[in-house]
Amino acid sequence: MILRVTHFGESILREPGKPVEHFDTALRELAQNMIETMHAEEGIGLAAQQIDRALQLFVVDLSVLSEIDFDYRLDGKKPPLDLIMPHVFVNAVLTPLPGRALVAEEGCLSFPGIRGDVPRAPAVRVTYQDLDGHAHELETDGWFARVLQHEFDHTEGVLFIDLMENRARRMLEPRLKRLKRATEESFGAPS
Ligand SMILES: [Zn+2]
Repeated sequence: MILRVTHFGESILREPGKPVEHFDTALRELAQNMIETMHAEEGIGLAAQQIDRALQLFVVDLSVLSEIDFDYRLDGKKPPLDLIMPHVFVNAVLTPLPGRALVAEEGCLSFPGIRGDVPRAPAVRVTYQDLDGHAHELETDGWFARVLQHEFDHTEGVLFIDLMENRARRMLEPRLKRLKRATEESFGAPS
């Protein structure tokens, strides 16, 4: 089932996620719906806050980026990307790995039509659980690391506009105001 994606201006996007405690069919169904929604919106990542749930849960699908260079180790191995995508992250904890921050342009399904440069750690380590509650560790760099940082931030109520440099953020300000007003008019959800 395709779910409604929340937009900037809805307070849920600022809510830190609660830990997932039950690894049951409801969680499986929610994750499946999030994957369907991400695919329908042509996104490469989607967090629970973006479908109106404050949970430590996000999904990614990097298979469209397979031509772009990035490396990864999942539990110390490198399974083919197609085999591990789409991928569900439950109760993720993200650690940025040392290195100079890299800047690249990002978008977000909760900010239609808005893009901007965001500095990110060049590589990350993520520990998380899968839908059965089993623990995993993923280390990656490049766009995979960037997407994980973007989605992990959502689960803490942090948005990509928070990380933009002041100048980039200022330039987007009029469009952000318009988007926020449109959101409030649609859903009556002032934040
Ligand atoms: Zn986003």
